[in-house]
Amino acid sequence: MECIFCKIAKKEAESNIVYEDEKTIAFLDLNPRGLAHTLVIPKDHFENIFEIDEEVHSNIYKSVKKVCEKIKKAFNVNDFRIMQNNGKDAGQVVMHFHTHVIPILGYKGESLEEIAKKVREA
Ligand code: AMP
Ligand code: ZN
Repeated sequence: MECIFCKIAKKEAESNIVYEDEKTIAFLDLNPRGLAHTLVIPKDHFENIFEIDEEVHSNIYKSVKKVCEKIKKAFNVNDFRIMQNNGKDAGQVVMHFHTHVIPILGYKGESLEEIAKKVREA
């Protein structure tokens, strides 16, 4: 069976695309762990970090940064976790290299008293 992320890259499978350029594509994760959880992939098939050369890596990271900037602008989120699994034991389920961009709805600077009050009264 053909790789699902290759199909997404070729627009043969549905996805919610948020950014695309010649070498990479970014789309929303189907099982989001947070608002606008996005996956950034190379359009060509590489399984993991060992198959990726510097140029591909650089293309992906340029797109990761663009996606972060777009989500920051869209949702006023400032904090991001960038995550990437290599190999089954590390939790890689889809064997096409992908970088997770997970926006973190950050700490807004409330005092501990304010936070405790909000939680108590919720
Ligand atoms: P990983 O565990 O790093 O391999 O992550 C794979 C991610 O791909 C998971 O978070 C899945 O929710 C996501 N995923 C799997 N299939 C699709 C799909 N067709 N479209 C969007 N996200 C997907
Ligand atoms: Zn693939």
